[in-house]
Amino acid sequence: MKLLEMDYSQIESLMKDLGQGKFRAGQVMSWLKRGKTPDDMTNLAKPLRAALNEIGLGGVRVENAITSKDGSTKFLFRCEDHNAIEGVLMQYHHGGSLCLSTQAGCRMGCKFCASGENGLVRNLNVDELVGQVHAAMGHLGEGALNHMVLMGCGEPFDNYHNVVRFLRLMTDEKGYGFSPRNISLSTCGLVDRIYDFIEEKIPVVLCISLHAPNDAVRHEIMPISHRYRIEDVVKAARAYDTASGRRVIFEYILIKGVNDSPAQAKELARLTRGMRKHINLIPLNGDVGGWQAPGRQDCQRFLSVLKENGASATIRRTLADDIEGACGQLRRRVLQEEG
Ligand code: SAH
Repeated sequence: MKLLEMDYSQIESLMKDLGQGKFRAGQVMSWLKRGKTPDDMTNLAKPLRAALNEIGLGGVRVENAITSKDGSTKFLFRCEDHNAIEGVLMQYHHGGSLCLSTQAGCRMGCKFCASGENGLVRNLNVDELVGQVHAAMGHLGEGALNHMVLMGCGEPFDNYHNVVRFLRLMTDEKGYGFSPRNISLSTCGLVDRIYDFIEEKIPVVLCISLHAPNDAVRHEIMPISHRYRIEDVVKAARAYDTASGRRVIFEYILIKGVNDSPAQAKELARLTRGMRKHINLIPLNGDVGGWQAPGRQDCQRFLSVLKENGASATIRRTLADDIEGACGQLRRRVLQEEG
């Protein structure tokens, strides 16, 4: 097991095995959670640092980091087996938020999304999930992020067990100590997994990629809609709200001529009526599938109709537009360049 996938008690037993006092676990963890490596751990004796290097940190390496005009940083991370994954650190008034990947590729096949174009390569391991947070802090400094969103490449609930373990490490007070409310997980709506996740009792913010007001429209853009009906996705969202006490966020990409009419806005409001929620409207980014984002006015009109019909909604500000910020775009280019 690599250092980055260990929880506090596992580091404690490792220290014991290495003939060290248990208190060393706290020292090691406090370095790790600040993005540091064994060589940085100056309060440990050199032979102990060498032993930790021997075990290995795991995780991912920052191969490239590009900072955008708006202060976002796009990372290209490399796994040990050379798989490329990407993450983006976005700057908000509340601090930095890291968008991280959960899989290399994706098998959900959403027709507007670059991440799934070449299918799934593999799930990311726990140390590679933690490694993205660790590497971003190592690169930009420990204060660089206080939020994270699981919205990069991949479907988090298709890598369920590793993602749950990762979330436990991130929210453990003896571990990375993130508040669950500062972590968002975005899913295309794997209904069975939403119910499983309720049982885990890790009350992160759940975001659901709805993108359509009914199954007919959803069938055009999201193959997963053939497995789970939209009504059941919304029902699971309600269950999550009730169980976690946190309102769900519905994500809705606006695609010109596909899902952006006022009638569809009305239908979306009706579909999600009677529950706490927020609808995040995202004008389509990029040109995947040959579609386009609606014009500004059409986006505003969609928003107004939602509001008139009692739904809380906003249009998401686009960040990192100039640095291929949307899911899978950077990885796609790197794959193309590498042939
Ligand atoms: N698989 C998860 C998380 C990854 S995608 C999910 O489906 O939610 C994160 C968000 O970005 C999703 O809402 C996804 O639909 C959206 N997205 C993907 N491609 C996009 C694009 N070209 N423009 C705008 N949003 C996109």
